[in-house]
Amino acid sequence: MANLRFQVVAEAFKKKPLEVKTPAERPCEFFGKNVFTREKMYKYLPKDVYEKLVDVIDNGTRLDRSIADAVAAGIKQWAVENGVTHYTHWFQPLTEGTAEKHDSFIEHDHKGGMVEEFSGKLLVQQEPDASSFPNGGIRNTFEARGYSAWDPTSPVFIIDDTLCIPTIFISYTGEALDYKAPLLRTLHAVNVAATDVCRYFYPDVKKVQSNLGWEQEYFLVDEGLYSARPDLLLTGRTLMGHDSAKNQQMDDHYFGTIPDRVQAFMKDLEIRALELAIPCKTRHNEVAPNQFELAPIYEECNLAVDHNMLLMSLMKRVARKHGFRVLLHEKPFAGINGSGKHNNWSLSTDTGILLHGPGKTPMDNLRFVTFIVETLMGVYRHNGLLKASIMSATNAHRLGANEAPPAIISSFLGKQLSELLDHIEKSDKDELFNIVGKQSMKLEIPEIPELLIDNTDRNRTSPFAFTGNRFEFRAVGSEANCASAMIALNSAVAEALADFKKRVDAIIDKGENKTRAIIDILREDIKTCKPIRFDGNGYSDEWVEEARRRGLDCETSCPVIFERYLDAESIDMFESLGVMSRKELEARNEVKWETYTKKIQIEARVIGDLSMNHIIPVATHYQSKLLKNVENMRGIFPPEKADKLSARNIKLIEEIADRTAVIEKGVEELVAARKVANKIENEHLKAIAYHDTVAPKMELIRYQIDKLELIVEDRLWTLPKYRELLFIR
Ligand code: ADP
Ligand code: MG
Repeated sequence: MANLRFQVVAEAFKKKPLEVKTPAERPCEFFGKNVFTREKMYKYLPKDVYEKLVDVIDNGTRLDRSIADAVAAGIKQWAVENGVTHYTHWFQPLTEGTAEKHDSFIEHDHKGGMVEEFSGKLLVQQEPDASSFPNGGIRNTFEARGYSAWDPTSPVFIIDDTLCIPTIFISYTGEALDYKAPLLRTLHAVNVAATDVCRYFYPDVKKVQSNLGWEQEYFLVDEGLYSARPDLLLTGRTLMGHDSAKNQQMDDHYFGTIPDRVQAFMKDLEIRALELAIPCKTRHNEVAPNQFELAPIYEECNLAVDHNMLLMSLMKRVARKHGFRVLLHEKPFAGINGSGKHNNWSLSTDTGILLHGPGKTPMDNLRFVTFIVETLMGVYRHNGLLKASIMSATNAHRLGANEAPPAIISSFLGKQLSELLDHIEKSDKDELFNIVGKQSMKLEIPEIPELLIDNTDRNRTSPFAFTGNRFEFRAVGSEANCASAMIALNSAVAEALADFKKRVDAIIDKGENKTRAIIDILREDIKTCKPIRFDGNGYSDEWVEEARRRGLDCETSCPVIFERYLDAESIDMFESLGVMSRKELEARNEVKWETYTKKIQIEARVIGDLSMNHIIPVATHYQSKLLKNVENMRGIFPPEKADKLSARNIKLIEEIADRTAVIEKGVEELVAARKVANKIENEHLKAIAYHDTVAPKMELIRYQIDKLELIVEDRLWTLPKYRELLFIR
């Protein structure tokens, strides 16, 4: 039996780090080299066109079609100067990746030759024939096609010879078929609601922006080893594999020296990312062996989402160049840490105020408390929905499964902030004010700035933690599009802020002083949202009990969690903010359920194939060797002695027979369960059947395979083992 495993292990050991040339310019000089930045807009566009475009970008005014041609001409000139021959509308369908269809600039010149052309029309709108993108039934094939439309707030960029134009993707009837369209609507909604509330404190605020700083975790695996693992290749995770004797227990990988081959990959990736204006800032080893992290500086949410999508696809390409494969799956290996994508989120004003950061004056601090409390209100009211927004077949392994915090959304505030909220809640209403003179009042909110800034008291187990001037949504999956979480979070907070404003205004209308009205409502809300606050150990069993008592969503089944999108409160919120309609939500859930089913279905097929083609044949082969040995013993020694000498081998022969029998039966049952589930027409019920009846059977099979891995002769085992996947780099 030729063994690919040993060949790829030997080759992997020989690989040397690829040489990556450091650019002659400094990073700040090549930053954004491949992006049509403002500077380039100024250079390549006529002055009036430039001004109109900047107005569209900064103030969300409508793009005047009459300038589209001029913008397209400027972009084309810049692109052609950089060797570009093709262009594409770049969009984010409901699969986790991005989509693109390249067209070249060439057109007939009607004189028998060709010209290179790029009109405003092609820049602004296209109709990709995208009938096979998931759409949850919104666009039946006989219906009108979908179209992609330019998002001018995210700049166009160049990858190789192609000009990429960020676009939204919607059906002709106006329903979003992607992540960007609802994200843009959400960002608008949160801007409106937050600006309104801001004006209580700072009347000159015109705009509030949502910020996102993601931290991307990932694994790297040598490409040769990867190719010898059909499960990694087809599902992105190992469906089997016994623990390596050593894994992360020594904590010697985290923040350790970055291995040379990996360092070369990171350097290459960063240069390309910086050229695309992705502001990469930190890189380091993560907790698990062969796990790493990259984080840029935070940016405006829409741009940050695009940059994360771009970075993930860049990572895949650059990794291959360096003889690696990048694993973005949330749980590629059982028994060690999985990967997430922490989403650092905050709101800030056009006047430069970070709304989730404390300030210097009592008024600043009242604003700070307002935004903290209303964020908690949103998260509390929609904790089930927020969980749904980060849930997927793959992230389910990180949430509520083994070695993971429970699938419950709660928020960690830290000691100082918790005490501050308790103080506001408990003190006598009049105690909070000192009346100074007739009209003005002094707020008795304790001094907080310095204390909060060195908020070192971090809680790694909290899915939504306050970290000084922002919240960190940690439960987001490593391969997810951040937009999903950002749509739910910004919408929930927009709704809470709008509701807050309504109630405060009602009190003011009755003649109450503004500050007192704000404090009144805040005190009410601090009480209401208390169940979402939890600073304890999220991994403990007691927390699950406690959370249930508090009425937080504790559901762990992924397809059931998706139902939260269709709760009356969710539909109400999304519709009233103009983010998504019931029809869109229903269609998107169809896609979620279908995707869930397909992922489990593929895994089930792969584990079935591997069991029958790799595991059982290898185990049986080893068993035959043992049988031969037992037989030989009998030829040489008297029966009693032979049996004694063969005792261990006989035991192994039996164990292999037992385990392979269980595996075989397991595979049969797995196929049968799939057959039953596949007959269910309703996508929702089918996904539930896959979750309840198919997925658990894979675990039983895996258990047996991992036991076999321990006893079968290493030389015969064909699949690279955990120790090889995790420690060769
Ligand atoms: P950690 O200790 O969690 O690794 P870092 O300081 O590395 O934190 O920051 C993580 C991310 O949070 C970075 O992308 C950073 O730019 C971002 N970040 C920092 N401040 C804010 C903020 N106010 N709003 C949103 N993101 C922020
Ligand atoms: Mg972090």
